Amino acid sequence: MSSPSTASPAESASTASTVITNIATLVTNDPSLGDRSPLGLIQSAAVVIEGDRVVWTGEESKAPATDNRVDAGGRAVLPGFVDSHSHLLFAGDRTEEFNARMSGRSYSAGGIRTTVAATRAASDADLERTLTRHLDEALRQGTTTMETKSGYGLTVEDEARALRIAARHTDEVTYLGAHVVAPEHTEDPAAYVSLVTGEMLDACAPYARWIDVFCERGAFDGDQARAVLTAGRARGLHPRVHANQLSHGPGVQLAVELDAASADHCTHLTDADVDALAHGRTVATLLPGAEFSTRAPWPDARRLLDAGVTVALSTDCNPGSSFTSSVPFCIALAVRDMGMTPDEAVWSATAGGAAALRRTDVGRVAPGAYADLALLDAPSHVHLAYRPGVPLVRGVWRRGVRVV
Ligand SMILES: [Zn+2]
Repeated sequence: MSSPSTASPAESASTASTVITNIATLVTNDPSLGDRSPLGLIQSAAVVIEGDRVVWTGEESKAPATDNRVDAGGRAVLPGFVDSHSHLLFAGDRTEEFNARMSGRSYSAGGIRTTVAATRAASDADLERTLTRHLDEALRQGTTTMETKSGYGLTVEDEARALRIAARHTDEVTYLGAHVVAPEHTEDPAAYVSLVTGEMLDACAPYARWIDVFCERGAFDGDQARAVLTAGRARGLHPRVHANQLSHGPGVQLAVELDAASADHCTHLTDADVDALAHGRTVATLLPGAEFSTRAPWPDARRLLDAGVTVALSTDCNPGSSFTSSVPFCIALAVRDMGMTPDEAVWSATAGGAAALRRTDVGRVAPGAYADLALLDAPSHVHLAYRPGVPLVRGVWRRGVRVV
């Protein structure tokens, strides 16, 4: 098995065509292909794969002839999940911090800086092993595209090496030197912002597609976040923002103003924030694993959806505040506690994630898209929320090759 967004030579897709038949419910995310709903559902469906792409979807009875045939056994097929927010370049363990938090005990040594110290001390091989272990873990749960960030190195060398390692395994690499002010610079945050927008950016830009900043009290304020994002944009990186997670702040408005692909967290929003999101291209990425793992208030997905905002759902997988790689778990939380319908949550974890990465070649099962598919051991996608905690993903195709 290989990692999401990576093709090893051994699994390069053949050009033979394969039809997957006997699909009880197919989620295409293309309304014109299915029942005209956002999920574009087709019952008694088939999908034809050729090489690494989907070439046909429709009712099984109309499927064209192919070289190979796979029987889905009356199960559901949906696009592989697109997890557009994770932090997998880390070392160390924060079990005790989590245990203390959940036990109502204070724990003074915790926080991002614990992970920074461990990450700096780790070898390249250790960092890469941790990354691929979690990418593989996510793949087994149906995630076929996964973004990941730096942000636990916070020196020029440590940020650049994290991104260099990440770029070997995913196309969706984000430079997050502005995660927190590095411990060496706590007395002079301005000097750290200069580093992040100068020498560190120069070292990191070749490996990254995105630039991100944690815009929050205790991290970076609006002016600092703007400086980070505009410097990254000038180097060809596209902005995304950790915005309004712990409190109200300027992050969401800044994200929309700078046409960031995504404003992530969006837990504390004013009406003006919601309005800005509804009128811009910026996706609101909700990360309920973080609220679950910190017992924080849930983001209000219903409010965003009712305002017409595009919503993505992601794991925020990281060792401190959300140590889950499971998109199905996040779907269940979003339905149970954030006011999303099962259909909306599944859309947000597939097409929504793709929108948050400004991609149209993933997150849908339609001709021309990558053949990235998840086969559920259930007759419909609704079971992802209906059967929380159950490992329903029975098969995964990535780039046309069955990898699980
Ligand atoms: Zn994050």
